[in-house]
Amino acid sequence: MSAPEPLPGPVVSGLLEQVAELSRRFGLDPQFSRAGGGNSSVKAEGVLFIKPSGVSLGSLTSDALMPLDMEPLLAFLNADPNAGSAAGSETVMQVAMLARLRPVGERRPSVECLFHALVPRRFVLHTHPTVINAVCCARDGARFAEQLFGDTALWVEYVDPGLPLARAISEARRRFEQRTGRAAPDVVLLQNHGLIVAGDDAQAVAHASVQAVQAVRRHLDRLGGGQSGARPRGTAPRQGAPLRAASQRRIDTIGPFLRGALSRGPRLQVVTFDDSDDAIRLASAAEGRGLVLSGPLTPDQIVYAGSWPLWLELPASEGQHGIVTTIRAALADHLQTRGAMPSVVVVEGLGLFVAGDAAREAQTARDVYVDATRIGFAALRLGGIRVLTPSERQFIEGWEAEAYRRGVEAAESTSGRGRGLVILITQASEGLGPALTADLAASGAYVVGVGGHGSLDAVHALVRSHGGLDLVVSMGPEPMADRTWNGNGLLAQVARVWALQRAARPTCRGTVLEVKSARIGGSEEREAQIRSLGRGLPAGITFKVVDPGGPADLLEAVLGAASA
Ligand SMILES: [Zn+2]
Repeated sequence: MSAPEPLPGPVVSGLLEQVAELSRRFGLDPQFSRAGGGNSSVKAEGVLFIKPSGVSLGSLTSDALMPLDMEPLLAFLNADPNAGSAAGSETVMQVAMLARLRPVGERRPSVECLFHALVPRRFVLHTHPTVINAVCCARDGARFAEQLFGDTALWVEYVDPGLPLARAISEARRRFEQRTGRAAPDVVLLQNHGLIVAGDDAQAVAHASVQAVQAVRRHLDRLGGGQSGARPRGTAPRQGAPLRAASQRRIDTIGPFLRGALSRGPRLQVVTFDDSDDAIRLASAAEGRGLVLSGPLTPDQIVYAGSWPLWLELPASEGQHGIVTTIRAALADHLQTRGAMPSVVVVEGLGLFVAGDAAREAQTARDVYVDATRIGFAALRLGGIRVLTPSERQFIEGWEAEAYRRGVEAAESTSGRGRGLVILITQASEGLGPALTADLAASGAYVVGVGGHGSLDAVHALVRSHGGLDLVVSMGPEPMADRTWNGNGLLAQVARVWALQRAARPTCRGTVLEVKSARIGGSEEREAQIRSLGRGLPAGITFKVVDPGGPADLLEAVLGAASA
């Protein structure tokens, strides 16, 4: 037995380039993959080069591919399941880590390396296409797979990922070959999960992946009655002005309250509101409530958007106090029955609120959840959905390999000190304003700079996109409070947002920071000045004046004020 060649020669490096390119193409196409979903590999000279865990398909480069010795992987896969220890994903990972021929940092290979190893083809691409998953999450998925693909695709019933899934694929291949006397097909449909396509040629793999999606799409289109694919985020249906204003008032109340109520750490969550066509459809269609409440359809949904969204019904006549009381009770009930706070809140007739540690996580959760609802609606057109069973769901919820993957992804997203902060800068073009805006954005904060003293629209926009805000910075030279602290002014609106955030999370305070200019005195003096105008500052708002020596000083002051 000769040791596999660990270092790629020119031919091998060409293959690595091909699989990286194939991965990026399908990883960047949201119809096939979202966030960290899916994986890919290429085999050469007894070595399996596979995507590492925590690296997305869309960003995969050839040098990131992890070389694994195939022999121990196949030996592990083919070992007698009754002998030895109970093989969980940790055991797969131990074997896979030992099979690494060249460590790529501390990285782990994809936990699905076993099924990549067992398919006797050069290239393997595994994706989670929404359209394919309509069939894979349909109650009669096996029948539709048979009807649409016949002997050109294998159907594999849902089993836990890792070794069980690899064994199920191996077994399905064996049964097919026994039954037909032909080689098992290169296309595999995984129930409640996605698609695997294999081939000796990267172009052929790409082609077959697209073909499989098109076959399902054509069938869904023939059935009519809905969208069959991932479509760009649409706009809300046209509403009359009074209705729009009423919706905005509800969004302005729900978003900030959820920001506080769904927070786990000291920093508030980012809560993004969505009233795209997909969101409205879910929140309004007769079948929407059933889809929201019946349980997760795919592991991706559990991993990125949580197993259980909250379905919320708020009478249109409900005022701010009533809304807050209803949400508080609904969340307490949800926590008790589901064991965790939701990441997704669907408000009947209004749209979705989706929470995350920062905007990126909230957006990913939103995208994955909306995909899941598209899958659900399409599966309903195929006669009904098949949700993951409690034990299937619990396996994913507690899956260490997923926690690892999310951990790697989170660490590599903007991990700066400003992560998750939402900051409004007024008179942003003045003085150090442009430098501050850039520095805060680099720290991971979400910053909106506005001219003059800002507008109510700027606050509404922040509430829609992020659920609220943490800090207002005024760059002077004119003190903002005089101009904007009255019944309808910007600060009044900001104070209302902060009151809602604080209603959910009493420790949270909003801060107004005025950057010192010739016309502003010290904090106390300034507060006294405002109070003397008979307006006062609402409880829970801190008012500060800073006199920075330079941009670095100012950044420190702002980040310090935000975490105070
Ligand atoms: Zn997968």
